[in-house]
Amino acid sequence: MKIEIAKWKDDAVSPVIFMVDDIANIAIKQSASKELQIGEDWGHYGRDKNSMWDFLSKNLLDKFPKIKTTFFLVTDKRAPMALGEEYTYNKSIVEDKKFIEFLNYLHQHKNVELAYHGTTHGKAAVKHEEFLQEWETFSSLDEALKEIARGKELFKEAVGSYPTGGKYCGYEEGDFGPDSIAKSGFKWWAYHWDGIVWDKNVDDTKYNYDLEFNQGVVDIPTTVDAATLSLRNYKQLFTRKYLKSLYLYLVEQKTIERHIESLYQNRQVISIQEHSSPYRTDGVIQYPNIVSDIDNLNYIFTLLSKKDVWYATCNEVADYFINRSNIEISMEGDDSFRLLSKTLTEAEITITIKNSLKRYGLFDKNNKLISEFKAKNNILYLTKKFNINFLYYIKEIR
Ligand SMILES: [Zn+2]
Repeated sequence: MKIEIAKWKDDAVSPVIFMVDDIANIAIKQSASKELQIGEDWGHYGRDKNSMWDFLSKNLLDKFPKIKTTFFLVTDKRAPMALGEEYTYNKSIVEDKKFIEFLNYLHQHKNVELAYHGTTHGKAAVKHEEFLQEWETFSSLDEALKEIARGKELFKEAVGSYPTGGKYCGYEEGDFGPDSIAKSGFKWWAYHWDGIVWDKNVDDTKYNYDLEFNQGVVDIPTTVDAATLSLRNYKQLFTRKYLKSLYLYLVEQKTIERHIESLYQNRQVISIQEHSSPYRTDGVIQYPNIVSDIDNLNYIFTLLSKKDVWYATCNEVADYFINRSNIEISMEGDDSFRLLSKTLTEAEITITIKNSLKRYGLFDKNNKLISEFKAKNNILYLTKKFNINFLYYIKEIR
């Protein structure tokens, strides 16, 4: 009998992560109307009608209750795009009680993870193009570490625990990026916009669609830009983003469907990228954003709902990867094995038995059934928190 460790939990083909950048204690009014309009909220309005969360829940998350969302939180008062510009409301995350309550609601939500996305997001200049992203503003490792520590404290003050991971602002790592992340105690980090391999044919191994370690930190790839519209999204016909997608198809035969299918066939990470709001202080529409892309998001998640995927947060994917990277299976007899690890004492992991039509169970040495394997096609799998070095038996169940 051959037991293997599955690449992903429950031996799913690919993990699916929904990543939303730039949730913040910010609102930016566009209309003269007193009432909040859809898109004007970055998070400040909590669960109010037409808030970011209200819109996203009603138009996507309630329809696809399996989706797991990782929100990237800007912790302090955010910089505008250029000097002199301002948001309608813009405060640190610990400034008002209602926002703190909202963050705690998200933090305790079983399908949501809050992650770190800097303090101010960067530094404004006279011109928008000269905006410096947060990690680009650091002139020493020490300065980077101090600012990250300050942001992590704000995060903890709001929700009671430190973030386990995060993402650079604008994907810009500056001179001290990876060192500052590794030394700040993060478990995982989204280091790059990896979809650039597909989008712009960039050939650089630092961009890829799988997990790897960077100085001990799990590098979570970002792979799908949700503003790449399906050409079936006729409602967006003749918009700039539709024409870009049409161009990709006509010139390079690329479609978002083919991109997702390729990630799936290769068992890679399908991580869908969004922003919390379309509006910025400079009047430019920020893409991708949950409002402009809502039909496309519904289309993408309908497509994924027909596939064998594992909906997970970044932290859950990182945990699984750390466990699988640190465990080996040692067969002790024909039907018995141990999991070995130099670093772990227990670990949740999925084990598989391939090409089996029989029913099997996991037993302890006293012949007590611990759990039965589940079947998928002709593969049996079992997900469980295993004790390392413990002798397990696998026996047929009749
Ligand atoms: Zn951002």
